[in-house]
Amino acid sequence: MYIGRFAPSPSGPLHFGSLIAALGSYFQAKANQGKWLVRIEDIDPPREMPGADKLILNTLEAYHLYWDEDVLYQSDRLDAYQQQLDQWLNHNQAYLCQCTRKQIKASGGFYQGVCRDKHLTNAQECAIRLVMNHPVESFDDEAYGTFAINRDLAHEDFIIKRRDGLFAYNLAVVLDDIYQGVTEVVRGADLIEPTGRQISLYKTLDKTPISYVHLPLALDDNGNKLSKQNHAKAIDTENPKKTLLEAMRFLGFTIDPSLCNESMDNILDWGVKNWHLSQLPKTLKIKPPFSNGAL
Ligand code: GLU
Repeated sequence: MYIGRFAPSPSGPLHFGSLIAALGSYFQAKANQGKWLVRIEDIDPPREMPGADKLILNTLEAYHLYWDEDVLYQSDRLDAYQQQLDQWLNHNQAYLCQCTRKQIKASGGFYQGVCRDKHLTNAQECAIRLVMNHPVESFDDEAYGTFAINRDLAHEDFIIKRRDGLFAYNLAVVLDDIYQGVTEVVRGADLIEPTGRQISLYKTLDKTPISYVHLPLALDDNGNKLSKQNHAKAIDTENPKKTLLEAMRFLGFTIDPSLCNESMDNILDWGVKNWHLSQLPKTLKIKPPFSNGAL
């Protein structure tokens, strides 16, 4: 069975960019008669906003995007992440590293394995890196096509637990996608590059990598990614239909004006029936204006 997911970080309310990811993953899951799960990625408290998880879930409901099964919170999964990490540390598949960002920059910008054989033990002052045995230099995105990854980046022993004690995004996301039985990831193109590392984690864990779809990223008027840091505004929950249709146009649907008079549920059903990956614009970024016609 197809299992898809939407995995927002609770760093702020849902903006237009995150609605694209929610909607794209929803359509792809439902068009494949699958389940659509929601996972709250709350493993980076300094970047989080109290209450943002509830705000995001309420907004999804306002858009009639109802998820299957219980919402998974990554903060409930820390023991599982640590267990995997300990196993790798015990098998010399991971190691402590004390290199600073500055030192890595000075040595050419990519980490060269300096601490791999140092057998450091003071976890308080170190990050944990994974020995890179399965470098991924390119992969085939189901929508975008072949995506090449910088060779040095692909071969780096990357960080799985940060020096500040927080688990790295790539580790948590892959362990959870496996745990939840996710069969395909659909998300924004800002995460297309880390996908290489995620596929190498599947290989390290002896699992078959899943498929990936990266949706074009919505930019703001200045050409920046819509994000909380750039003060992207929260989407309208009072009057969601206009934004829903705008997001659907962004995702490549041609919308007949008569659809605008339908209910939210009918619009979403129409979207599920008419969704094809081939409709997605073949680009990684799109600047406003997003709608190609009056609503
Ligand atoms: N939590 C990540 C974000 O909000 C998305 C993770 C993913 O979809 O893999 O940017």
